[in-house]
Amino acid sequence: MAQIIDGKVISNQIKDELKAKVKEYKDNGTEICLAVIQVGNDPASSVYVGNKKRACEYIGIKSLAYELPEETTEEELINLIEQLNNRTDVNGILVQLPVPKHIDEDKIIKTINPLKDVDGFHPHSVGALSIGQKGFVSCTPAGVIELIKRSGYDIAGKECVVIGRSNIVGKPMSMLLLRENGTVTIAHSKTADLKAVAKRADILVVAVGKPKMITAEYVKEGAVVIDVGIHRIGTTDSGKNILCGDVDYDDVFEKAAAITPVPGGVGPMTIAMLMKNCVDSVEIQKQ
Ligand code: NDP
Repeated sequence: MAQIIDGKVISNQIKDELKAKVKEYKDNGTEICLAVIQVGNDPASSVYVGNKKRACEYIGIKSLAYELPEETTEEELINLIEQLNNRTDVNGILVQLPVPKHIDEDKIIKTINPLKDVDGFHPHSVGALSIGQKGFVSCTPAGVIELIKRSGYDIAGKECVVIGRSNIVGKPMSMLLLRENGTVTIAHSKTADLKAVAKRADILVVAVGKPKMITAEYVKEGAVVIDVGIHRIGTTDSGKNILCGDVDYDDVFEKAAAITPVPGGVGPMTIAMLMKNCVDSVEIQKQ
């Protein structure tokens, strides 16, 4: 029977640590400020933006909200980002993704000053991670590392398999496991015999984007299984979303040494790590 890795508890611990650090900064005259830009009113994005604002409030970070209409042009968005890049009172800039189709997402990400790139998506941040330099790390993979370490599992010397190679999860996840001295394999849709590869893992991180795809057949006895996936698979009678991950939780539960649930595993960590990036921005901007 697996240990359940509780992302709510661990993310709350992190937020409380950050709250104390933010207070220290405030006492020394430094206020941290995050600018959050949302273009259009995609309901899921509005929920994420709302959660980010609430986390800022809890921790004591000032947040500036820019809610722009769907028809905002790329040029207008770039102008706003450039203004925020130049403001010394703004530490972090976050553009909620996805942006509407008429706006080039890559161009927007590249416009953000890498010293304020708290999402860690700028090529500069990605490059810094891959060559072991200081910089912002993409929040979800950074949260996975915290979940593993704070649950008492060592990564050094372990066989780590990441299923998925996206720019926001799989690739940075692999770099972070490597930074922690894991022996890392990245699997993807062209991997031959995924089951055999996944079964090598002492630490299996699943970011495949397919509901409940990873069953016990993919898991080594005693592995630590981290499920990054999140899918809405229905609603309850009272209208609440029913969620599941990329891992078949019930099937894997008996075999794994530890597992993250969905919801309540990786999900809450993403915002906690965004808050950490905001706090870390003070040091990063001293470079
Ligand atoms: P993507 O769809 O961008 O990437 C999925 C990856 O899985 C790709 O690399 C793809 O391979 C690989 N893949 C797809 N099918 C298979 C298969 N049958 N066998 C092996 N590999 C396969 O997804 P993301 O990385 O953006 O997200 C992954 C999951 O994590 C999603 O469920 C998403 O909702 C969730 N997520 C959760 C977050 C959180 O905060 N909890 C944050 C971000 C994402 P290839 O490259 O070859 O196509």
